[in-house]
Amino acid sequence: MATETTLDVGTMRIRILDDGIFITDAGNLFGGSRKIRIRGAMHAVLVETGEDLVLIDAGFGPELPEALAGRYELQREKNLMDRLEEAGHAAEDVTHVVLSHLDADHVGWALRPPSFPNATVYVQEDALEEARDMPEGDGRRAAVPAVERGVEEGWCKLQNGNGEIVPGIRIEVRSGHSAGHQIAWIGSGDDAALYTADLAPAKIWLNPDLISGTDTDPEAARKNRIEVLEEVESKNAPVILYHEPGDFLVNIRRTEKGFEGVSIRD
Ligand SMILES: [Zn+2]
Repeated sequence: MATETTLDVGTMRIRILDDGIFITDAGNLFGGSRKIRIRGAMHAVLVETGEDLVLIDAGFGPELPEALAGRYELQREKNLMDRLEEAGHAAEDVTHVVLSHLDADHVGWALRPPSFPNATVYVQEDALEEARDMPEGDGRRAAVPAVERGVEEGWCKLQNGNGEIVPGIRIEVRSGHSAGHQIAWIGSGDDAALYTADLAPAKIWLNPDLISGTDTDPEAARKNRIEVLEEVESKNAPVILYHEPGDFLVNIRRTEKGFEGVSIRD
């Protein structure tokens, strides 16, 4: 299994930073009580633009949050911060952190505790709004105090819809998994890559009909997944799959039933 991969898009270099593997019962992701253990990776995306150092999603953080203890197991020899250092960067060098949504496996190093002292952390206002309404003990709800503190202290910026984080990195709201869930296009035109976050986090999720028990709006998730995968297929742009333990860098092809991911390293 690859632990670090780079991909050049225009003048930008993308590095995939591995934050380990989580293991959980399938029921925690699909609902119900299936006694099947499944594994998911966490592949955060670091973009070196020449000017800025942009991190998109931030793993689980130093340890599993309390809310998930017992339900999730975390396996790692090295974590995202080790990988950042191996890539030649210090935590202080990160200038922007984009959070696709507020689930614990995406916000860890950005919020618990904040690990990038010079970075602005970007969160969609709708994602925060939804997290506030989640029940006590929910993973998304647990992120709310840190985001609110960040907004107050000025290191967290709330976003309203699509926009450019820095030249060449454009975020797009594609809700369904959560309200305000955002994906990121890196580069432009023929020379672009797509980070799908939890809209399509692993190869099995390229099937539009797979419904996650953790999607807050499954119909929106399905519609957005189809639209985005059609677009990225037509552009033949590489896709970074956050939770895919194996081939996390793929091109998308249409199949009879939906889509499949083809490793771009073959
Ligand atoms: Zn996730």
